Amino acid sequence: MVVVGDSSGPGEDPRGRAESRMQSRVLCALRDHGPQSRPELGAQMGVSRTTVGVEVGRLVTLGLVREQAIGGGPPGAGRRSTVVDLSPDIRFVGVAVGVTEMAVAVTDGHLAVLEEWHGPCELAQGPDVVLAEVVTRARALLAASGAEVPWGLGIGLPGPIDFAAGAPVAPPLMPGWDGHPVREQLARALGCPVVLDNDVNLMAVGELHACSGAGGDLLFVKMGSGIGCGVVVAGRLHRGSNGCAGDIGHVEVVAGDGRRCACGSTDCLEAHAGGAALLREATAAAERGDSAWLAQRLATRREAGAEDLELGDLGEALAAGDRVTATLLREGGRRVGHVLAGLVSFLNPAVIVVGGRVSGLGHVLLAEIRSATYRRSLPQATRDLRIVLSELPEQGGVVGAAHLVSDVVLAPATGVGDTPPHL
Ligand SMILES: [Zn+2]
Repeated sequence: MVVVGDSSGPGEDPRGRAESRMQSRVLCALRDHGPQSRPELGAQMGVSRTTVGVEVGRLVTLGLVREQAIGGGPPGAGRRSTVVDLSPDIRFVGVAVGVTEMAVAVTDGHLAVLEEWHGPCELAQGPDVVLAEVVTRARALLAASGAEVPWGLGIGLPGPIDFAAGAPVAPPLMPGWDGHPVREQLARALGCPVVLDNDVNLMAVGELHACSGAGGDLLFVKMGSGIGCGVVVAGRLHRGSNGCAGDIGHVEVVAGDGRRCACGSTDCLEAHAGGAALLREATAAAERGDSAWLAQRLATRREAGAEDLELGDLGEALAAGDRVTATLLREGGRRVGHVLAGLVSFLNPAVIVVGGRVSGLGHVLLAEIRSATYRRSLPQATRDLRIVLSELPEQGGVVGAAHLVSDVVLAPATGVGDTPPHL
């Protein structure tokens, strides 16, 4: 694990660092479970009160933790209990960059979003323009949250990432980004540790953070123009030996019709069930006159200068009871469910979260994904399996990004060979 950026700046730098594995455990317990008394913390971590007391005392000195009296009563009026919490000064920045939009958020130590910004961003303008925007937005949000310095920044980009190098690798949708040292550039500009990953991995971590019942085994399926999957096993992101784990969009579907995928192969899952494929099919159905509703909407779109239907049109068509659209989505959901059934047999996850813009079309799709996944999996593997829509459609990426970098900042003492969760 390589982290660029040094939080030990000039003497007045308020940002402390954990010194031991036990301190890292205290910090992560406070991040994930909120403020607690010393005895509660000891019970949760399975260590003695004395040990907790020593570590908490040290963390207070380092400025990472504070203790506060609760239960009222003026000072000196008898015994009062105290709770331990993360320093209110801690700030993480989470950034999720898409092809045409960007989200930036500042969180506290518990990863609660304090300030956020969503706006347009043309990835094709290249790294210098886009990263300058990231730095400007991050600084403005930090100031609005009452802080000057970030403790760490996590950022996601929509393409393959060399995690160890902190740079994109031959990203198909990102001209000018190949090999660009994103992590180093941001760490230098902001003077804090930076973690770079792909957008789907960040969303998987964000969902894990929001989904306390996942128990650490979770799949996040992003259905956007393409289809990707973030894989969390035993609380850790599984990236694979080349960072390609979860690239399910190019798994071959059963009984395909030979249609071409953007990757050059045929009958890939996303060529059948990705958002771009669904829109192509819906547009073709409108041109053939299979659906009067879609044909009318397509005519309206073309009068306005567009070529194809948009995802929002499919949502409206569904609401209007258009059967062609419902069949298209059911077919797409069935194909996604087939692939997920293979993953369920292989990994036995507790939760599968479905997100991305296509998932916004709602329950027709989810119902079909569920039914195909359950039908094709062994009962033992699906006995407790939950398949749900994303709980964080707007914030999953930024919260996941903040979570990833918080592991680096709060748990640096775990070291290589026993990497903290998600790293
Ligand atoms: Zn493909």
